[in-house]
Amino acid sequence: MATHKKPGNWRPRTQAVRGGQMRTPFQETAEALFMTSGYAYESPEEPEARFKGEAEGFTYTRYGNPTVAMFEQRMAALEGAPCARATATGMAAVSSVFLAALRQGDHVVAGKAMFGACRYVIEDILGRFGISSTLVDGTDVEAWQRAVQPTTKMFFLETPANPTLAICDLKAVAAVAEGCGARLIVDNAFASPALQRPMEFGAHIVVHSSTKYIDGQGRAMGGVILCHDDFLRDHLQIYLRNTGPSISPFTAWLHMKSLETLALRMRAHCENAEIIADFLASQKNVRRVLYPFRDDHPQHALARSQMDGGGGVVTFEVEGGKEGAFSVENAVKLIDVSNNLGDTKSLMTHPATTTHQRLSPEARAELGVSDGMLRISVGLEDPADLCEDLAQALARSGARHAR
Ligand SMILES: *Cc1c(COP(=O)(O)O)cnc(C)c1O
Repeated sequence: MATHKKPGNWRPRTQAVRGGQMRTPFQETAEALFMTSGYAYESPEEPEARFKGEAEGFTYTRYGNPTVAMFEQRMAALEGAPCARATATGMAAVSSVFLAALRQGDHVVAGKAMFGACRYVIEDILGRFGISSTLVDGTDVEAWQRAVQPTTKMFFLETPANPTLAICDLKAVAAVAEGCGARLIVDNAFASPALQRPMEFGAHIVVHSSTKYIDGQGRAMGGVILCHDDFLRDHLQIYLRNTGPSISPFTAWLHMKSLETLALRMRAHCENAEIIADFLASQKNVRRVLYPFRDDHPQHALARSQMDGGGGVVTFEVEGGKEGAFSVENAVKLIDVSNNLGDTKSLMTHPATTTHQRLSPEARAELGVSDGMLRISVGLEDPADLCEDLAQALARSGARHAR
């Protein structure tokens, strides 16, 4: 049977490389990929005991798989969470947390600056099942308090938020949730556990799109839910087992191996992003730059108090609205036009016509998503090449404007 090394009090860098590893009798150094749907038993008594919950062991990969279990344990170690469950996508993680625990008549409060699909789930899908919601300005702690109703069961927020990189005060919002008996769920995809661990500030549940920085190389979709024992036992376990948003063992293996270099990659993403942000701020066609660790970010002190780095995403606004932004996207030669993020390759997107297209112009204005706004997911290329590419693109689009 598989053997586990005792995790002891390993520090995060060690956990990232060794956390959760189970070795087979072959004593392989790299984690094994168990690409199997089922498991065979020595006798009929064995599955009987496992199905009754009286014996440990795997029965079916929708329920559990050794490779998936290794990825989950490593994620739990890095987030400082008691339990983790991996899912097929980030959205499977987000929707499962809601649908596993909420029922008709319940109420959710959410920070309105969030990933578009999360907003769709909260407003449209939950709404169809009689679960109501109030969207608030997530940066305003009193707004969370004012939105609370007797039926409020969950708070949901994303920080830094897409695409404006607004920061929510994790500790303060967690205290409001605690005060009304609601669970605070934090979408930690933009920061990753290398830069931010929301449970340290009182969050009850953390969700991830491991498609982003955890994979880090733009290859495979995945998600993770981190929670406490009671949530897993009372809500999540039975929901996941029976509805089946399971991750492929192959993706779990890929994302687990990516965790080994996550801290190194995030440090490099942050270094590059800081250089790009400073460079953009010096360009005359650029109106405004948003980056959490720049002194001109309205919440930079809060960002520094809960994050270990500003992250890999830089948002900026060019002159000329949509036309100005599109001309920059048409002129970049190295940076790709793509709405994904968290890749080694630098990617640029125009939020108003892609990720935030579904929102009304008023809703976009409320979030600060302007027509001239561009978001760069800064990759791991040489930052000098990225700055040169941006300089030529801004110069060409600027020239077009002057005409
Ligand atoms: C990408 C993303 C999601 C959704 O994850 P998928 O893996 O695409 O399903 C949710 N939240 C945030 C902040 C994201 O960036």
